[in-house]
Amino acid sequence: MPATVLPDRPLPRQGVIAIEAYVPGKSTAPGAAKVHKLSSNETPLGPSPKAIAAYRDNAGQLETYPDGSASRLREAIGARYGLDPERIVCGAGSDEILSLLANAYIGPGDEAIFTAHGFLVYKIAILAAGGTPVVAPETAFTADVDAILARVTPRTKLVFLANPNNPTGTYLTFEEVKRLHAGLPPRIMLVLDAAYAEYVRRNDYSPGLELAAISQNVVMTRTFSKIYGLANLRLGWCYTAGHVCEALHRIRGPFNVNGAALEAGIAALADAAHVEKSVAHNDTWLLRLTKEIEKLGLVVTPSVGNFVLIHFPVQAGQDAASADAMLKAHGVILRQVAAYGLPAALRMTIGTADDNRRVVALLATFMGRA
Ligand SMILES: *Cc1c(COP(=O)(O)O)cnc(C)c1O
Repeated sequence: MPATVLPDRPLPRQGVIAIEAYVPGKSTAPGAAKVHKLSSNETPLGPSPKAIAAYRDNAGQLETYPDGSASRLREAIGARYGLDPERIVCGAGSDEILSLLANAYIGPGDEAIFTAHGFLVYKIAILAAGGTPVVAPETAFTADVDAILARVTPRTKLVFLANPNNPTGTYLTFEEVKRLHAGLPPRIMLVLDAAYAEYVRRNDYSPGLELAAISQNVVMTRTFSKIYGLANLRLGWCYTAGHVCEALHRIRGPFNVNGAALEAGIAALADAAHVEKSVAHNDTWLLRLTKEIEKLGLVVTPSVGNFVLIHFPVQAGQDAASADAMLKAHGVILRQVAAYGLPAALRMTIGTADDNRRVVALLATFMGRA
């Protein structure tokens, strides 16, 4: 019998080796006097002052463990959205929830589906759990229900749908989401990632709470990182069936959400006026930016989020890489999205009025329209 050759150092599982690490939006522009970061869909209005105060108040208790059941936060979320707190699970960002879902439901040989320009954290979570990522093509930069359903096999365990999607900003109507759910066998979990739900102003959109409420195989995830402006604290949650909560509770860290995040989250939820202000700012600038950038001869994918996907011409000098370099030289950082299969585009987060005007002016010069 040949001797087994053992590795001379610990090796991660194959799925871990297959992961291309997530590259976050950049936050530095070497040489620029001031940085205008429009690369991570952070809110230009910041968090509610009440959330900041709650965060500061927590500083006196750093030696005590937080409430591992997040009970007051879950009650506050339940009261705000009319949900049963028992069916809410909180996490260190919704990214943690997405990983927990993958770890709980996917093993080696299992498949999980996401869409061609879908959020890249799904692929990482699937691979890290030992599963096989399956990519469904999109139509007009939008998730395609039939394409997703066509990729279901006996090995499919999860379907991840960002609605609206990042980085495209497009969304599926609730009718389409329900059609997707109806087409999935009940053994497959549908994960509706509604990170940008608060920004959407469309009558035919729903984050999916109703569907999660009545189904045994739907999880809706939400975050405090975007409209609530608490990305730095890492806070997210999901609403799902009781049996799914039980699975997630088994594998999550017993104190996965820190106390400062719990308190800031509760305070942020209570400040509806701040959220309204953020939505109003976004409404104004989403429309204005889309129009003004299109006037320059660039193509903007219609977005319902707090960001726009800008498509650049292919010719040298006017391509996305040149635009990115020009903007960076002026301290403006957009998001490169080549890793999302969009090498000719850049994603711009809607910023302050000043930053938005700055980008339009710079792009106008770049496109020879100034
Ligand atoms: C930003 C974002 C999230 C939020 O992630 P957190 O871990 O909660 O900060 C989730 N899904 C999508 C599609 C996002 O763009």
